[in-house]
Amino acid sequence: MPGVRAPALARLWHQLRSARRCSLAACPGRDRSAALHPLWQSPLTIPGGTRQSPINIQWRDSVYDPFLKPLTISYDPTTCLHIWNNGYSFLVEFDDSTDRSVIVGGPLENQYRLKQFHFHWGAINDWGSEHTVDSKFYPAELHLVHWNAVEYPSFEEAVMEGNGLAVIGVFLKDTVIEFDVFDPSCLIPSCPDYWTYAGSLTTPPLTESVTWIIKKKPIEVDEDQLEAFRRLLFTSDGEEEKRMVDNFRPLQPLMDRTVRASFQVRQRLPARGQRQERGAELPLL
Ligand SMILES: [Zn+2]
Repeated sequence: MPGVRAPALARLWHQLRSARRCSLAACPGRDRSAALHPLWQSPLTIPGGTRQSPINIQWRDSVYDPFLKPLTISYDPTTCLHIWNNGYSFLVEFDDSTDRSVIVGGPLENQYRLKQFHFHWGAINDWGSEHTVDSKFYPAELHLVHWNAVEYPSFEEAVMEGNGLAVIGVFLKDTVIEFDVFDPSCLIPSCPDYWTYAGSLTTPPLTESVTWIIKKKPIEVDEDQLEAFRRLLFTSDGEEEKRMVDNFRPLQPLMDRTVRASFQVRQRLPARGQRQERGAELPLL
């Protein structure tokens, strides 16, 4: 039923915007590490894990790879199925029974099907993204999750395999611009530049099955839209209200990995003093 599901996404946005505000008592403080969602509060590890995510991307240490192809994204908005709250984020799920919403190219050897997208965000604009660039956090990060339907019969099997998943990460930055249409292709910046590295899921089971493709350019969203995320609750009716914020996994060690760049890496000059300040925000690894 083309045309039915896209308005459903617009309705989601409306619901997020009109969601009830939290009570002051339930509001988290301004301390990033103290405010983590319960899912990430106890140390999460995978024994012997060598390619865990998220990581800090050091711009000047990433290596330009001239053989990296452009990423081709082809999404059919009518494959959008529904939206649900899984307790730590909200997921927008897609019909992945056929190759109607797919990505191909970039670092990928196969075509990957879109399964779902979701966001990670913070209580305030100073943090919220899972990945960082030169230790800089963005207020939120979008993850578009795809699986390798060429090599594996199901998403569940792909999750367990080294080349099973491909996740596009897009940073969100607050500005005065609003986006109204919630078609996933319009959530991806037009700039083709990206970083890529071999990593893992950032939620249990943390399997090391993800080819990460992190877009260099952030997308810009209205501050009200970030606030709409923060007004979501992860408690049920009758419980003390707790806002769904700080739903990101802490940074993981890079270990023996190289982050490849699809673009010529020139050192970006941070604002004076910024590198020092941001470095102090990094958790101990
Ligand atoms: Zn995610």
